[in-house]
This record gives sequence, C-alpha cells and structure tokens, in this order.
Amino acid sequence: MQRYAHCQRCEADVVGVYRHPRIRTLAWVYAGFGVIGVAAFPFFAWDYVISLPGYMVYFLGFAQVLAILREKPTCPDCGAITEPLRPVKAR
Ligand SMILES: [Zn+2]
Repeated sequence: MQRYAHCQRCEADVVGVYRHPRIRTLAWVYAGFGVIGVAAFPFFAWDYVISLPGYMVYFLGFAQVLAILREKPTCPDCGAITEPLRPVKAR
C-alpha cells in the first residue's frame, strides 16, 4: 500500500512506503479476526475451557499488531518517517 506524504529531510513530496508491507497485510488479517471474535463473543463466553482463554491470548498479541498498523510510512529515498500531506486550504 502506497501513500503520498511529505519528507521533511528531502523537503519534497514523496510516495511513502511502509517498512514491512507483508507483515502489515497479515496484521490486517489478524485484526479482522478480532472483529469476528467480538461478533462471536457469546460463543467464547459459553466455553470457559478453551475458547475464552484462547481469546485472551489472542488479545495479548493485539498491541503489537496495532503498533504495526499505526506505523507511519517512510521516505523511499532517505528512510525518514514522513508527514501526511496537508489538505489544500480553500480560499
Ligand atoms: Zn526523504
């Protein structure tokens, strides 16, 4: 996934790239299972032995997944973290 951004080190608008794009895709899949898990929570609450502890273990890894998903894109030339482009102000 590419994203237009501004690199302050290069002082130019660049196409920002993520450091780990494939892991980022897997992180989206992991987060999608969380949405399914919230919808299926009555089933998990019913099964105290396997499903509910498994659900808890799943959420132990959720902080790392959120850290990957919230990572800002970097400049492809110098590798600096980029800033998002500011919207054009209407006059
Ligand atoms: Zn740069």
